[in-house]
Amino acid sequence: MSTSSCPEVAACSFSLDHYREVLQAGLDAGYRFIGYEELANLPAGQRACILRHDIDLTPEWAIDTATVEEGLGIRSSYFFQVCAAPYNLREAEMVSIVRRIAESGHAVGLHFDMSWDPDVAWEDLGRLCLEDKDLFRRMTGVTPCEMVTIHNPHRFQDRILNQPVPGIRHGYEKAFFSDIRYLSDSQGWYEGCMCGVFRGQSHPRIQLLTHPYLWPADGDEDLVANIARAVRFRHRRLEDYMVEYHPRCSGDDERFRHLARTFR
Ligand SMILES: [Zn+2]
Ligand SMILES: [Zn+2]
Repeated sequence: MSTSSCPEVAACSFSLDHYREVLQAGLDAGYRFIGYEELANLPAGQRACILRHDIDLTPEWAIDTATVEEGLGIRSSYFFQVCAAPYNLREAEMVSIVRRIAESGHAVGLHFDMSWDPDVAWEDLGRLCLEDKDLFRRMTGVTPCEMVTIHNPHRFQDRILNQPVPGIRHGYEKAFFSDIRYLSDSQGWYEGCMCGVFRGQSHPRIQLLTHPYLWPADGDEDLVANIARAVRFRHRRLEDYMVEYHPRCSGDDERFRHLARTFR
Protein backbone atom coordinates (compact mmCIF):
# COMPACT_ATOMS: atom_id res chain seq x y z
CA MET A 1 0.00 0.00 0.00
CA SER A 2 1.39 3.43 -0.83
CA THR A 3 1.64 6.02 1.92
CA SER A 4 -0.78 8.34 0.14
CA SER A 5 -3.51 5.71 0.18
CA CYS A 6 -3.27 5.31 3.97
CA PRO A 7 -5.80 7.76 5.40
CA GLU A 8 -4.48 7.47 8.94
CA VAL A 9 -1.01 8.65 7.93
CA ALA A 10 -2.31 11.32 5.59
CA ALA A 11 -4.81 12.75 8.06
CA CYS A 12 -2.88 13.08 11.35
CA SER A 13 -4.15 16.20 13.06
CA PHE A 14 -5.75 17.39 16.28
CA SER A 15 -9.30 17.03 15.07
CA LEU A 16 -12.21 15.02 16.39
CA ASP A 17 -12.18 12.89 13.23
CA HIS A 18 -8.58 11.95 13.82
CA TYR A 19 -9.28 11.37 17.50
CA ARG A 20 -11.65 8.64 16.36
CA GLU A 21 -8.94 7.22 14.08
CA VAL A 22 -6.42 7.27 16.93
CA LEU A 23 -8.72 5.22 19.14
CA GLN A 24 -9.57 2.88 16.27
CA ALA A 25 -5.83 2.34 15.74
CA GLY A 26 -5.58 1.37 19.40
CA LEU A 27 -8.42 -1.12 19.12
CA ASP A 28 -6.99 -2.58 15.89
CA ALA A 29 -3.61 -3.01 17.60
CA GLY A 30 -5.23 -5.05 20.38
CA TYR A 31 -5.34 -2.45 23.13
CA ARG A 32 -8.11 -2.77 25.68
CA PHE A 33 -9.27 0.59 27.04
CA ILE A 34 -9.57 0.22 30.79
CA GLY A 35 -10.26 2.11 34.00
CA TYR A 36 -7.57 2.66 36.65
CA GLU A 37 -9.03 -0.06 38.83
CA GLU A 38 -8.63 -2.68 36.10
CA LEU A 39 -4.88 -2.29 35.55
CA ALA A 40 -3.77 -4.59 38.37
CA ASN A 41 -5.92 -7.50 37.21
CA LEU A 42 -5.18 -7.71 33.50
CA PRO A 43 -4.15 -11.00 31.92
CA ALA A 44 -0.43 -11.21 31.10
CA GLY A 45 0.26 -10.00 27.60
CA GLN A 46 -2.93 -7.99 27.33
CA ARG A 47 -2.18 -4.60 25.80
CA ALA A 48 -4.14 -1.91 27.63
CA CYS A 49 -4.66 1.83 27.74
CA ILE A 50 -6.08 3.92 30.56
CA LEU A 51 -7.71 6.75 28.64
CA ARG A 52 -7.91 9.88 30.77
CA HIS A 53 -9.26 13.34 30.06
CA ASP A 54 -8.48 16.38 32.18
CA ILE A 55 -11.10 19.05 31.53
CA ASP A 56 -9.44 22.44 31.79
CA LEU A 57 -11.26 24.70 29.35
CA THR A 58 -14.26 23.35 27.42
CA PRO A 59 -16.44 20.78 29.22
CA GLU A 60 -18.87 21.21 26.30
CA TRP A 61 -16.39 19.52 23.99
CA ALA A 62 -16.00 16.57 26.35
CA ILE A 63 -19.42 15.49 25.10
CA ASP A 64 -17.89 15.13 21.63
CA THR A 65 -14.98 12.94 22.71
CA ALA A 66 -17.28 10.89 24.95
CA THR A 67 -19.66 10.31 22.03
CA VAL A 68 -16.79 9.19 19.81
CA GLU A 69 -15.65 6.76 22.50
CA GLU A 70 -19.14 5.39 23.00
CA GLY A 71 -19.40 4.77 19.25
CA LEU A 72 -16.29 2.59 19.52
CA GLY A 73 -17.42 0.83 22.70
CA ILE A 74 -14.68 2.52 24.74
CA ARG A 75 -15.01 3.59 28.37
CA SER A 76 -12.70 6.34 29.59
CA SER A 77 -12.22 8.61 32.61
CA TYR A 78 -13.20 12.31 32.68
CA PHE A 79 -11.81 14.60 35.37
CA PHE A 80 -13.46 17.98 35.96
CA GLN A 81 -12.35 20.87 38.12
CA VAL A 82 -14.90 22.11 40.63
CA CYS A 83 -14.01 25.74 39.97
CA ALA A 84 -11.68 26.33 37.05
CA ALA A 85 -10.92 29.80 35.70
CA PRO A 86 -12.98 29.15 32.51
CA TYR A 87 -15.90 27.19 34.04
CA ASN A 88 -17.40 25.91 37.26
CA LEU A 89 -19.58 22.96 38.12
CA ARG A 90 -22.36 25.13 39.54
CA GLU A 91 -23.37 26.16 36.02
CA ALA A 92 -26.45 24.27 34.85
CA GLU A 93 -24.83 23.20 31.59
CA MET A 94 -21.79 21.82 33.41
CA VAL A 95 -24.01 19.79 35.73
CA SER A 96 -25.80 18.27 32.74
CA ILE A 97 -22.49 17.51 31.00
CA VAL A 98 -21.10 15.72 34.06
CA ARG A 99 -24.31 13.74 34.48
CA ARG A 100 -24.52 12.85 30.79
CA ILE A 101 -20.94 11.53 30.74
CA ALA A 102 -21.38 9.59 33.99
CA GLU A 103 -24.67 8.07 32.84
CA SER A 104 -22.96 6.88 29.66
CA GLY A 105 -20.70 4.67 31.73
CA HIS A 106 -17.50 6.67 31.78
CA ALA A 107 -15.71 7.26 35.06
CA VAL A 108 -16.05 10.85 36.27
CA GLY A 109 -13.73 12.34 38.82
CA LEU A 110 -12.07 15.40 40.31
CA HIS A 111 -9.31 17.32 38.51
CA PHE A 112 -7.77 19.26 41.35
CA ASP A 113 -6.17 22.69 40.93
CA MET A 114 -4.42 23.98 44.04
CA SER A 115 -3.42 27.31 42.50
CA TRP A 116 -6.12 29.38 44.24
CA ASP A 117 -4.23 29.07 47.51
CA PRO A 118 -0.63 30.33 47.38
CA ASP A 119 0.05 28.88 50.81
CA VAL A 120 -1.30 25.40 50.26
CA ALA A 121 0.93 22.77 51.81
CA TRP A 122 1.54 19.35 50.38
CA GLU A 123 0.33 17.86 53.66
CA ASP A 124 -3.09 19.47 53.01
CA LEU A 125 -3.46 18.08 49.51
CA GLY A 126 -5.38 14.92 50.38
CA ARG A 127 -7.81 16.74 52.66
CA LEU A 128 -8.43 19.50 50.11
CA CYS A 129 -9.11 16.95 47.38
CA LEU A 130 -11.62 15.17 49.60
CA GLU A 131 -13.34 18.48 50.31
CA ASP A 132 -13.57 19.24 46.59
CA LYS A 133 -14.87 15.72 45.91
CA ASP A 134 -17.65 16.41 48.38
CA LEU A 135 -18.40 19.74 46.66
CA PHE A 136 -18.36 17.95 43.31
CA ARG A 137 -20.97 15.47 44.53
CA ARG A 138 -23.16 18.12 46.07
CA MET A 139 -23.02 20.36 42.99
CA THR A 140 -23.69 17.68 40.38
CA GLY A 141 -25.34 14.78 42.18
CA VAL A 142 -22.60 12.58 40.72
CA THR A 143 -20.21 10.89 43.13
CA PRO A 144 -16.71 11.32 41.73
CA CYS A 145 -14.58 8.21 41.36
CA GLU A 146 -11.87 7.38 43.85
CA MET A 147 -9.09 8.53 41.53
CA VAL A 148 -8.10 12.22 41.45
CA THR A 149 -5.94 13.93 38.84
CA ILE A 150 -3.84 16.95 39.73
CA HIS A 151 -3.85 20.04 37.49
CA ASN A 152 -0.31 21.35 36.89
CA PRO A 153 1.39 19.02 39.39
CA HIS A 154 4.71 20.87 39.04
CA ARG A 155 4.31 22.79 42.29
CA PHE A 156 4.87 19.64 44.32
CA GLN A 157 6.33 17.65 41.48
CA ASP A 158 8.84 15.72 43.58
CA ARG A 159 6.14 14.73 46.06
CA ILE A 160 3.43 13.86 43.56
CA LEU A 161 5.05 12.23 40.52
CA ASN A 162 5.55 8.54 41.32
CA GLN A 163 4.56 9.14 44.93
CA PRO A 164 1.52 8.25 47.00
CA VAL A 165 -0.44 11.21 48.37
CA PRO A 166 -1.97 10.44 51.78
CA GLY A 167 -5.75 10.26 51.72
CA ILE A 168 -6.29 9.95 47.96
CA ARG A 169 -5.47 7.86 44.91
CA HIS A 170 -4.14 9.88 42.00
CA GLY A 171 -3.23 9.59 38.36
CA TYR A 172 0.50 10.24 38.80
CA GLU A 173 1.08 7.32 41.14
CA LYS A 174 4.01 5.18 40.07
CA ALA A 175 1.72 2.38 38.86
CA PHE A 176 0.15 4.77 36.34
CA PHE A 177 3.10 7.05 35.56
CA SER A 178 6.42 5.22 35.48
CA ASP A 179 5.49 1.53 35.64
CA ILE A 180 3.54 1.97 32.40
CA ARG A 181 4.06 4.44 29.58
CA TYR A 182 2.53 7.85 30.30
CA LEU A 183 1.69 9.90 27.21
CA SER A 184 -0.13 13.20 26.92
CA ASP A 185 -1.26 15.62 24.23
CA SER A 186 -0.65 18.62 26.50
CA GLN A 187 2.00 20.25 24.31
CA GLY A 188 1.76 18.02 21.27
CA TRP A 189 2.81 14.38 21.16
CA TYR A 190 6.03 13.13 22.75
CA GLU A 191 6.51 10.23 20.34
CA GLY A 192 4.66 11.31 17.21
CA CYS A 193 0.94 11.01 16.70
CA MET A 194 -0.70 8.53 19.01
CA CYS A 195 -2.17 6.58 16.10
CA GLY A 196 1.38 5.55 15.18
CA VAL A 197 2.25 4.76 18.80
CA PHE A 198 -0.69 2.38 19.00
CA ARG A 199 0.16 0.76 15.69
CA GLY A 200 3.79 0.31 16.74
CA GLN A 201 2.67 -1.61 19.87
CA SER A 202 5.94 -0.69 21.57
CA HIS A 203 4.29 0.09 24.92
CA PRO A 204 2.11 -2.75 26.20
CA ARG A 205 0.49 -0.61 28.91
CA ILE A 206 -0.25 3.08 28.51
CA GLN A 207 -1.89 5.89 30.45
CA LEU A 208 -3.00 8.33 27.74
CA LEU A 209 -4.03 11.82 28.85
CA THR A 210 -5.93 13.90 26.33
CA HIS A 211 -7.67 17.26 26.70
CA PRO A 212 -10.92 17.63 24.73
CA TYR A 213 -10.23 21.32 24.07
CA LEU A 214 -7.36 20.24 21.82
CA TRP A 215 -9.67 18.04 19.69
CA PRO A 216 -12.51 20.28 18.46
CA ALA A 217 -15.20 18.90 16.17
CA ASP A 218 -14.47 21.67 13.67
CA GLY A 219 -10.69 21.61 14.09
CA ASP A 220 -8.51 20.88 11.12
CA GLU A 221 -5.45 22.87 12.03
CA ASP A 222 -2.70 22.49 14.57
CA LEU A 223 -2.57 22.39 18.34
CA VAL A 224 -2.07 26.13 18.88
CA ALA A 225 -4.91 26.96 16.47
CA ASN A 226 -7.15 24.63 18.45
CA ILE A 227 -6.21 26.31 21.73
CA ALA A 228 -7.13 29.66 20.15
CA ARG A 229 -10.38 28.12 18.93
CA ALA A 230 -11.22 27.00 22.47
CA VAL A 231 -10.46 30.48 23.86
CA ARG A 232 -12.76 32.01 21.23
CA PHE A 233 -15.47 29.50 22.16
CA ARG A 234 -15.31 30.55 25.84
CA HIS A 235 -15.28 34.20 24.83
CA ARG A 236 -18.44 33.74 22.79
CA ARG A 237 -20.14 31.89 25.62
CA LEU A 238 -19.46 34.93 27.81
CA GLU A 239 -20.90 37.18 25.11
CA ASP A 240 -24.00 34.99 24.96
CA TYR A 241 -24.32 35.19 28.73
CA MET A 242 -24.23 39.00 28.68
CA VAL A 243 -26.76 39.16 25.84
CA GLU A 244 -29.09 36.91 27.79
CA TYR A 245 -28.76 38.57 31.19
CA HIS A 246 -27.84 42.23 30.68
CA PRO A 247 -30.64 44.37 29.19
CA ARG A 248 -28.24 46.83 27.55
CA CYS A 249 -26.37 44.01 25.78
CA SER A 250 -29.53 42.29 24.57
CA GLY A 251 -31.12 45.57 23.52
CA ASP A 252 -28.06 46.66 21.60
CA ASP A 253 -26.92 43.21 20.64
CA GLU A 254 -24.97 43.79 17.42
CA ARG A 255 -23.06 46.79 18.73
CA PHE A 256 -22.24 44.90 21.93
CA ARG A 257 -20.99 41.88 20.03
CA HIS A 258 -18.91 44.02 17.73
CA LEU A 259 -17.31 45.87 20.62
CA ALA A 260 -16.83 42.71 22.68
CA ARG A 261 -14.75 41.27 19.84
CA THR A 262 -12.88 44.50 19.18
CA PHE A 263 -11.59 45.59 22.59
CA ARG A 264 -8.43 44.01 23.84
ZN1 LIG B 1 -2.30 10.18 13.71
ZN1 LIG C 1 -5.44 20.32 33.99
